Amino acid sequence: MKNTMASFVWHPYTQMKDWPKFDVISKGRGMWLYDIHGNAMMDGVASMWCNVWGHSNKELTDSMIKQARRLQHSSLFNLTNDRAEELAEKLVKLAPGMHRVFYSDDGSTAMEISAKMALQYWYNKGEKKKTKFVSLENGYHGDTAGAMSLGYVPLFFSKFKPMLFPVLRTPSPNRYRIPNGYSFDDYQEFCLDKIEQILAKNDNIAAFVMESGAQIAGGVVIYPKGFQKKISKICKKYNVLLILDEIATGFGRLGSMIEYKDQESIPDIVSFGKMLSGGYLPLAATLATKKIYDSFLGEYKDMKHFFHGHTFTGNPLACAIALANISLYKKYNLISKIKKRAIQIQSRIKEISNLDLVGDVRHKGLLMGIELVSNKKTKDPVSPQKRLPQKIFTESKKNGIYQRTLGNIVMVIPPLAISEKELDFLLDGTIKTIKNVSAQI
Ligand SMILES: *Cc1c(COP(=O)(O)O)cnc(C)c1O
Repeated sequence: MKNTMASFVWHPYTQMKDWPKFDVISKGRGMWLYDIHGNAMMDGVASMWCNVWGHSNKELTDSMIKQARRLQHSSLFNLTNDRAEELAEKLVKLAPGMHRVFYSDDGSTAMEISAKMALQYWYNKGEKKKTKFVSLENGYHGDTAGAMSLGYVPLFFSKFKPMLFPVLRTPSPNRYRIPNGYSFDDYQEFCLDKIEQILAKNDNIAAFVMESGAQIAGGVVIYPKGFQKKISKICKKYNVLLILDEIATGFGRLGSMIEYKDQESIPDIVSFGKMLSGGYLPLAATLATKKIYDSFLGEYKDMKHFFHGHTFTGNPLACAIALANISLYKKYNLISKIKKRAIQIQSRIKEISNLDLVGDVRHKGLLMGIELVSNKKTKDPVSPQKRLPQKIFTESKKNGIYQRTLGNIVMVIPPLAISEKELDFLLDGTIKTIKNVSAQI
């Protein structure tokens, strides 16, 4: 249904010429979003992968209201606040090996902080030549300049290259698109060898940067078991810091609270975002080990302290919700529920793989990417002229679902607390959407 509101908003990643009007959402309840006319659709993307408990969760909103009445914001420059302190303690206890928490407002800034922290760590240690970064191809770490440099997705960022710094890149183990002549195991070894070669050859590497557990925005690449662990060993061997990005994959998305723990890899620096506040307010956190933190201590005149900060660093309102969010994980046993939902998804994979257009289905926890191709044998992508993203969006709306694609990949990324029945609705709708769209292609 068309809305009648005037629109002055410029939307992200959107050809505005195609979208003169948007559905105007004005209410959310549980898994459902409602537009101004009262039409409901299921939030099939967890409002850009961040929603945990559904919308308008009473325990979260109560914590927000209570905190807003006490203290809405006070700066972390020369002062601290009780909520930021409590949350930092909780996070350090949750995240093995971590010692201190640096707050920011979103995932991109958390990754800028990770990179600056790594650079200044080596600077403080007197190893000033260690200034370069290595990352996995098709990684994604956010949309600000440093984050774009680290996680270069060519389609998104080629226009901005003049403002990016150079980063060395190594191949990522996408099981669906392995070069000819390799088995998946061989290709994994090849990817690891490449990393080892680069780290062995260059003594100026500050850090290796990767998403923890899986790459999402770069094409839903789920790492094979042991891959991340081996990278963390290679980093240790060559005295290179490991920076992990758990902004989208930590806090339950892949079926673990702290994904690097499941991957048996301890980073030097790790960032959380998206689901940290349950998806209710912008908040991110970058955690560092004692080794990193201690290098920033010294006499004032040494200028070793971390030169970074934002207006809303450690915002108590966001921290209060994050505290409430974390307490609910335990109260409702969320991680074990996610594991049950993951089995539910697993039981439908075959059915989905058999659909026309479906080339590959990649899945872990409550993350699923369904890669659509024009030819299952040749794996040729669907041409952009077919306007697949628009068609998927339109058809899924008819099925009562807000769903998006990333390129040719249909994303199924629901709020983590989705029930069995609701997940069935989402999967049934997704299958129907793909069937209807393939009839049009
Ligand atoms: C979303 C995302 C980011 C960026 O977070 P924003 O809050 O959008 O700035 C960084 N890394 C990963 C893996 C993400 O999925």
